Amino acid sequence: HIAAQRDALQSAFEENVRLLNESRKYAEALKDADRRKDEFLATLAHELRNPLAPIRNGLHILKMSPNPKIADEVRDMMDRQMTHLVRLIDDLLDVSRVSQGKIDLRRERIALQDVINAALETSRPAIDAGGHSFTLDLPDEPIPVNGDLTRLAQVVSNLLNNAAKYTPDGGHIRLTLTRDGHEARIIVTDTGLGIEKDMLPRVFELFTQVERNLNLSQGGLGIGLALAHRLVQMHAGSITADSEGAGLGSTFTVRLPVTDLEGVAPEGVEPAA
Ligand code: ADP
Repeated sequence: HIAAQRDALQSAFEENVRLLNESRKYAEALKDADRRKDEFLATLAHELRNPLAPIRNGLHILKMSPNPKIADEVRDMMDRQMTHLVRLIDDLLDVSRVSQGKIDLRRERIALQDVINAALETSRPAIDAGGHSFTLDLPDEPIPVNGDLTRLAQVVSNLLNNAAKYTPDGGHIRLTLTRDGHEARIIVTDTGLGIEKDMLPRVFELFTQVERNLNLSQGGLGIGLALAHRLVQMHAGSITADSEGAGLGSTFTVRLPVTDLEGVAPEGVEPAA
């Protein structure tokens, strides 16, 4: 009888120790989340404030300078800074929508070539501003997918902007679209800073930024790739990062299911007339 009581006490004790350890771990995780939130808020404040200083300077110059050539340059600069600011805020809004499951895709039959052209329209200025050369490899045959053109273009544009941002001026960026049976692949390669092997899987996590000595105008919020990852998943695809290491360039690959095989229309898509 006493032995049974002792065993019961022993297991109650063990259970308590287990619970205590678990709550310790939980408290650590909460502390960690709290620290990441603080860091994120600090980064956010910086990133939102950064474009405002040049915009304010620009306004001042426009007021003072009668030279039309300077005025044109200043307006272009202000336009770029505003675009950057709007993009940051849009990404932030999207992240909160994604985490609340509030992003609806407009699914239709689209050609990936059109997605890429739309993305290039957005990202070309960033590629050119970095003085990068750019190669585009598109197949002649359209590659059809069932998806949301604007959202997929956002993904590709994110990859191109990152390639431009994390490659020292005068690098090379290449975008390749290929198809292998049911699978379409969009591959964005750059000759830039690269990513350490142990960071590769983490770059798709929300708020992850690889520590680097970048000047702040090249900063970001660490949400672009997390958003891209989520949007690609919503299209039943996947996204991966590869790099041989720091300084050796990076390759991002988006894989998406092709929808035209055997003339079978995928769910929710009207067959082409
Ligand atoms: P952000 O660019 O705002 O920091 P992202 O989510 O787009 O956030 O990227 C997360 C991190 O992944 C970046 O901070 C950067 O360190 C790394 N990264 C993304 N793209 C590249 C690239 N093409 N080359 C090197 N590093 C990259």
